[in-house]
Amino acid sequence: MSGLYADIIVDISHENLDHTFQYRIPEELKERTAVGSCVIIPFGRGNRQIRGFVLEITDRPKYDPEKTKSIISVQSDDTLVEQKLIMLAYWMRKRYGSTMNRALATVLPVKKNVRTVQKRDVILILPPDEAEAALAEFARKQNVARERLLTELIKEGSIDYRLVTGKLNISPATLRALCEKKIIDIVSHRVYRNTVSGEHERAAVRLTDEQQHIAGDFIAEYDRGIRGTYLLYGITGSGKTEVYMEMIDHVVASGRQVIVLIPEISLTYQTVMRFYKRFGDRVSTLHSRLSEGERYDQFERARKHEIDIMIGPRSALFTPFDDLGLIVIDEEHEHTYKSDQMPRYHARDVARRLAMLHGGSVVLGSATPSVESYAAAKSGEYKLYTLKQRAKKAGLPKVETADLREELKKGNRTIFSEKLKLAIDEKLTKGEQVMLFLNRRGLSGFVSCRSCGEAVKCPHCDVALSRHRKGKLMCHYCGYETSDVKKCEKCGSSLIGAMGTGIGTQAVEDAVKTMFPYASVLRMDADTTRQKGDYEAILSKFANREADILIGTQMIVKGHDFPYVTLVGILAADMSLYANDYRAGERTFQLLVQAAGRAGRDERAGEVVIQTYRPEHYAVMASLSQDYEAFFEEEMTYRRLLSYPPAGHMLAVITESRDEAEGIRYAKDLASKVCNGIMGSVIGPVAASISKIRDVYRQMIYIKSADIGILTDLKDKIEEYCEKNPEKNIRVSFDLDPMNGY
Ligand code: ADP
Ligand code: ZN
Ligand code: ZN
Repeated sequence: MSGLYADIIVDISHENLDHTFQYRIPEELKERTAVGSCVIIPFGRGNRQIRGFVLEITDRPKYDPEKTKSIISVQSDDTLVEQKLIMLAYWMRKRYGSTMNRALATVLPVKKNVRTVQKRDVILILPPDEAEAALAEFARKQNVARERLLTELIKEGSIDYRLVTGKLNISPATLRALCEKKIIDIVSHRVYRNTVSGEHERAAVRLTDEQQHIAGDFIAEYDRGIRGTYLLYGITGSGKTEVYMEMIDHVVASGRQVIVLIPEISLTYQTVMRFYKRFGDRVSTLHSRLSEGERYDQFERARKHEIDIMIGPRSALFTPFDDLGLIVIDEEHEHTYKSDQMPRYHARDVARRLAMLHGGSVVLGSATPSVESYAAAKSGEYKLYTLKQRAKKAGLPKVETADLREELKKGNRTIFSEKLKLAIDEKLTKGEQVMLFLNRRGLSGFVSCRSCGEAVKCPHCDVALSRHRKGKLMCHYCGYETSDVKKCEKCGSSLIGAMGTGIGTQAVEDAVKTMFPYASVLRMDADTTRQKGDYEAILSKFANREADILIGTQMIVKGHDFPYVTLVGILAADMSLYANDYRAGERTFQLLVQAAGRAGRDERAGEVVIQTYRPEHYAVMASLSQDYEAFFEEEMTYRRLLSYPPAGHMLAVITESRDEAEGIRYAKDLASKVCNGIMGSVIGPVAASISKIRDVYRQMIYIKSADIGILTDLKDKIEEYCEKNPEKNIRVSFDLDPMNGY
C-alpha cells in the first residue's frame, strides 16, 4: 500500500525529542499536512484524541501500513509558536546538515525538572483614601498589629507573605480577618526569576536628524506592510542603539514582539540598562550565566506575553514569541553569531527565515558590516541605512600607523614604537586614559618574514601556510605541503621565523610598568576574568578612572563608553592577518576599526596608533582612514577571484574518526564517490589544521559553488551515503560558509 506517512511528536517539552509516532496521512489531508503542522491523532489503546506536531513526512512506512493509524485532522491555526519553531528546525536541518533531533533540541526549550518557587504576597486592595481612614480607625482602637501592617502596605502596596508573618509578626488569623473585610488580599503566583531590575524611565535623548531619518523610514515602511532585511551601517559611536530602540518602540506599540541579539561579550549591564530604562519590565535578557531554570522561566514569560522584548546572544532567537515583528542583530559581523555545534547555523540567516515565518523584519547593525551583508545591501537584497556622524560632539579619531620593521632597523626592540611611547606619555601627563589592545586572533602557528612582513603562503591559494609538527608547512585549502621555507619568496631575506606564540598581555603589562612606572595599570584577558563579575569589575574600575591604562585582548573592544580614553594603541595589528582562512583581512579590518572606535568617544579628541609590520596591507590602510568602502571593494575583488563567500558559497565536510587511516579512507570515498562531478570545485580531503582534537582525527573536504542549492543537494547526498554506509567510528558533519578555519 503506497501513501505518505508522518512522524509525529506528541510532547515537545519532553527531553526525548526522538520519541515520534508514525501515522498515515489520509489522501484528503495531503495538501494541508507539512512539517510543523499541528494535527489531531488517535493515541494509545483507547484512541483518545490528542494533539501532535509533524516532524517528518516520508513515503517509507516504519510499521505494517495496514496497522498504522491515520491522522484525524489538521489544525489550520498557524499562530502556534511550536509550529513555527519546528518549521524553523526543519529548515536549519536541511540547510546546515544535522539530524532533526539536534535541530529540534536547538530551537525548542526543553523543560528540565525546573524547581519553581511559589511566592505569596499580601496586597492592599483598598483605594488610598479609604486605606487612610481604616488606618485611623485601627489607631483609635489601638489595634497595633493591624495598624503596623496597614502602615507598611500603604507605603509598599504589596509585601512578601513571609515578611508579613515573619518580620512584621502578623498572625494568620489577623490576615484572614483583614481579607474578609476586603482590606487586603493574599495572592500567589509563580515567580519568574527576572534578570533585570532597576528604575524605569523614558529615554531622554532626542534623535539626531540622521537617526530620525532612518528610524522614520523604517517605521513608514513597516506601517505600509513592507517587510525585509535592513542593514544599518553606522560608524562607531553613531548611536545605532538609539535607532534600534526607536524602531523597537514602534513595533512593540503595534502589539508585536522583538528579539535583540547582542554578542555575549557586549551584553554588559550598561547595554541592558539602556533597554530597560526605555522599555521597563517588558524586557528580559538571556545570557550564559543563567541557570537552565532561569532560561526556561524567561521563555515562559515570553510565551505568556509578560514581556515583548528579549535581549540575548544567538540562542535568544528561539524565544517562543508568537507574533514576532522585528529581529535586531547588533554587531552583525561578529563571529559568535555562527554556531560551532551542529547544526552550524548562522544567526543572521536563521533570523531572516524566522522573520519570514512571522511576517517580521530584520535589522542588522554594525560599524564594520560583514562583507556578506554589505554585498547583499549593495545588490539591493537588503536595504542600506548609513549613519555617518558620531552622535555626541566627537569626531572620528586620528589614526596613524607605526611601522615595526623601521623600529627594528632603528634598533628598538621594545614592544612600543617611538610614536606610541610619546603618545602614551602625553596622555598620561594630561590625566587622560589609554587603552592598549593586543590582537591575538589567528595565533595558530604561521611563519613570516621579519624583514618584509610577508607571510609564507601556499603557491596555489591565497592563504598562509600553517605550521605543523616538525616544521612541516601545510595549506588547509588545497593540501599542499612543504618542509620549512628557508628564504622569503618576496624579498629573499632569510630572517624567517615562526610567529607561533607571540607576546601575551602579561608581557605587555610588565613592559608598561617598566616604561611608565608612575602609571596605574589594569589588565583584562582570560586570566584576569576567571571569576563571575571580574569582567564588569575591571571595566567599571577603568570607567571610574581608577587606572590610567587598560591592557587587553579583543575583550576590551566592546561595550563600554570611556569618555576619558583619548588614545588607543594597537600593539600587533597584523597578528590576525596570518590566520589560515580567507576571512583574515576582514577580521583584521573589523578589529582595527572597532578598537580605534574606542578612542575619543566624548568631547576630547581621540588618537590611535596601529603598530604593524605591514602598513601597506589594504586592511590596515583602509582602517587608517576608517574607509569601509575602500576595504570592501578590495576584499570583494579578492573573494570574487577565488569564489569565496559571498562571491560564491563553500561547504566544509568534516570527517571525524579515532582511527586516522579509517577516517582518511572514508573521506576519500566521500570525495570520489559523492562529491565528484558536481558543478563546483572539490578540494581535499586534507587534514584539518588542528588535525587531532581529543584523540579524534579530522579530515576536511571543501566544496565551492556559485549556487548554494548545489551545495545543499550535495550535503543531502552525503547524508544519504553515510546512512547507507554507516561506520560506527566515523562521524561526518557540515559547515556551510564557514567562519573559522578548521
Ligand atoms: P553605537 O552603538 O553606534 O556605537 P551608541 O548607540 O552606543 O553607538 O551611542 C554612542 C553614544 O552616543 C552613547 O553614549 C549614546 O547614549 C549617545 N547618543 C546616541 N544617540 C544620541 C543622541 N541622539 N543624542 C545624544 N546622545 C546620543
Ligand atoms: Zn621578505
Ligand atoms: Zn593551497
